[in-house]
Amino acid sequence: PLVLGIETSCDETGVGIVRGQTLLANAVASSLEEHARFGGVVPEVASRAHLEAFIPSLERAARDAGVRLSDIDAVAVTSGPGLAGALLVGVAAAKALALALDRPLYGVNHLAAHVAVDTLEHGPLPQPCVSLLVSGGHSSILLVEDVTQNVQPLGSTIDDAAGEAFDKVARLLGLPFPGGPFIDREAKAGDPAYVTFPRGLTSPRDLERHRFDFSFSGLKTAVARWVETRQRAGESVPVADVAASFQEAVCDVLTRKAVDACRTHGVDDLLIGGGVAANSRLRAMAEERCAAAGIRLRVPRPGLCTDNGAMVAALGAQLVARGLAPSRLDVPADSALPVTTVAV
Ligand code: ATP
Ligand code: MG
Ligand code: FE
Repeated sequence: PLVLGIETSCDETGVGIVRGQTLLANAVASSLEEHARFGGVVPEVASRAHLEAFIPSLERAARDAGVRLSDIDAVAVTSGPGLAGALLVGVAAAKALALALDRPLYGVNHLAAHVAVDTLEHGPLPQPCVSLLVSGGHSSILLVEDVTQNVQPLGSTIDDAAGEAFDKVARLLGLPFPGGPFIDREAKAGDPAYVTFPRGLTSPRDLERHRFDFSFSGLKTAVARWVETRQRAGESVPVADVAASFQEAVCDVLTRKAVDACRTHGVDDLLIGGGVAANSRLRAMAEERCAAAGIRLRVPRPGLCTDNGAMVAALGAQLVARGLAPSRLDVPADSALPVTTVAV
């Protein structure tokens, strides 16, 4: 089926088109620059930007795919989780399209879409698989029995998301927003063993209750203290070394817990997604540790890891292929949609 996917849960306005599991178009407009001076995404600004970017993105996707809207067989849209006002723009647009084209509408879960997108690049998803999703808004480990209808949370962050930690530490080091890519770049010239920063929720006691959960706020505070101490002593801050040491701590915990989740659940395939999956150290460390543990690793290319419409279309196409019923036209914009609800 030819499926159109719409994503507006955060700062990316994404419109993607797939035919089955073949990617035809993936138009993404981001309002990130408008948020830069606030150091984080401002919900109201994001919603307005979606409103402005939606029609141009839709037109570009149709042009790139070489299809007319009347050719579309189904419309899929992110129903949640995400920023309520931002989600509303995509959901309203999707309803209008489904109604005007008289096509079925699928309201889907953003996290399941982050998992489903990998089929566009690496073919059918091995099931079950474990998925580590790390972005500016999420850090979770999921047990994916079937991405169209059975996704179970194993753990998630109890405070900051991994991407959020990257962004906050970057700010502290005087690097631009969003900080992830800048820390990644700085770290290449730094010593990852320069400072040993804390690995959150990895002590035996914490593991009892939080085996697959993450905590990054203590790490962020530790970096802030370390930098302050240096500055107060009138010494310069070795940005590359601190960036590398921080990145090492994050990647160590993420990969350690993801591999442990695979082992514990007898799963041989790990999928990493979300914006932080673009991190070069995370990719390298995951490859090493998965190889050592006999786990196959799948990481979509960076353009499919960050928020986009193709991931929503990919999940929509799998729902259609499985013959699952479409959503009703009263699809909600649910900022707190539970991860277990793949489609509304
Ligand atoms: P959501 O959480 O809803 O998916 P988002 O917009 O925060 O929304 P993404 O667009 O997937 O999520 O990811 C953005 C995040 O990824 C930012 O925090 C950014 O710093 C981080 N990021 C991007 N590239 C890298 C990188 N190379 N290394 C580390 N972090 C990165
Ligand atoms: Mg984003
Ligand atoms: Fe996302």
